[in-house]
Amino acid sequence: MKATKNKSFVSTRNACKQCSPLGACMVFRGIEGGLPLLHGSQGCATYVRRYIISHFREPMDVASSNFSESTAVFGGKDNLTTALDNVIKQYHPKFIGVATTCLSETIGENVPHLLRDYLRERTGRPMPALVHASTPSYAGSHMEGFHAAVKATVDTLADGGDKIRRVNLFPGFLSPADLRHLKEILEDFNLPFTLFPDYSETLDAPTWDRYRLLPDGGTTMEDLKGMGANFASIEFGRTLKGRPTGAESLRTRFGVTRTTLGTPIGVDETDLFFQLLEVLSGRPVPEKYVQERGRLIDSFFDAHKYVFEKRAIVYGEEDLVVGLASFLASVGIVPVLCASGGESGRLEECIREVCPQMASKITVKEGVDFADIEQEAVSASPDLFIGNSKGYPISRKLNVPFVRVGFPLHDSLGGQRVLHIGYQGAQGLFDSIVNAVLRHKQDVSTAGYAYM
Ligand code: SF4
Repeated sequence: MKATKNKSFVSTRNACKQCSPLGACMVFRGIEGGLPLLHGSQGCATYVRRYIISHFREPMDVASSNFSESTAVFGGKDNLTTALDNVIKQYHPKFIGVATTCLSETIGENVPHLLRDYLRERTGRPMPALVHASTPSYAGSHMEGFHAAVKATVDTLADGGDKIRRVNLFPGFLSPADLRHLKEILEDFNLPFTLFPDYSETLDAPTWDRYRLLPDGGTTMEDLKGMGANFASIEFGRTLKGRPTGAESLRTRFGVTRTTLGTPIGVDETDLFFQLLEVLSGRPVPEKYVQERGRLIDSFFDAHKYVFEKRAIVYGEEDLVVGLASFLASVGIVPVLCASGGESGRLEECIREVCPQMASKITVKEGVDFADIEQEAVSASPDLFIGNSKGYPISRKLNVPFVRVGFPLHDSLGGQRVLHIGYQGAQGLFDSIVNAVLRHKQDVSTAGYAYM
């Protein structure tokens, strides 16, 4: 395995990551009655809204404290106070998540102190829960923002108590379809759970008769408060091992056991998840999943001749890349380039864990942009590109079939309905990959094959 980093950094060109507050906004949107508020410039909120709306095709309000030049010099207390007053009056939220942008972080704004003052000055009045997540974008990607918001919410809201038969599930940044499937799986195991965040309805809602300022759905305040009394936590993301997370906070404060698994993409990672659910629930894997797994394995035999030893380039969030690499290796596709704009420092190690038999054939690049990926892609001679829509121009230039997964998908419909996880998700991904290879073979052939 070859791991490389940029030696002579000039500037980021077409980033393979999003800004840190975007991840925090996703988490805050996954809380019932929750509203994200960015403490900083209005443009940051606009950027986040545009990215999320274009992918999910749902309305997404992100409030802003609207920094100006004078705010940047004298501090944003007045702006934050006005912003909180306004959104409480207009939205009546149960929860406001305040994420700090690059500017408010750079001037050293003490947001926890400002929020304490704000609440103290309104003692006796009904107030929403206020949580602050520190999310300077120059210190991490949208995934650092996502995990920081999860941890800040748990730190602020979770209480302890006598342990009950219920688990916390921290899924990471998945699609609404993934979140719905996770809920289905845990219900089938008859295992009570708190899923956090849960934007499966708030970012993929049915049509409404009248516009709602805050959509239905999301993790309830009651469930968030009860997290410390649950007996176990499951968190997805191999790169999270050893890092301070919401699950780690619950472990140290309330003795809730923490198990970190890979995002359950593909057979191997999904098997580990189901094995854990068997232990935690005390029940065997329900028959419907045994059947799903069996059909999936059968399809691997059917399509082996089409995909064996194909070369794939995979990019996106680090834990998505790890899951996809594990899946591809298990079906005989070599993930020749695994790339991410994230910089956990753990990507190479995690890829090695899930693809031990292919390690010598894989290049891992973390902290890269799409200019770096394009440079590497030319010599990688790929047969497939797998990732979000930002990589499409490279696949087009190289005339390589492209399979869309993850976030953002700005050039197609249904990003919120892409199922990545579980045996069902693996089946859908596998069919998409095989068919992309077959379509490409048809398209470049002059013969016009109708039988492949
Ligand atoms: S200034 Fe920072 S927080 Fe704002 S959009 Fe840019 S990267 Fe994101």
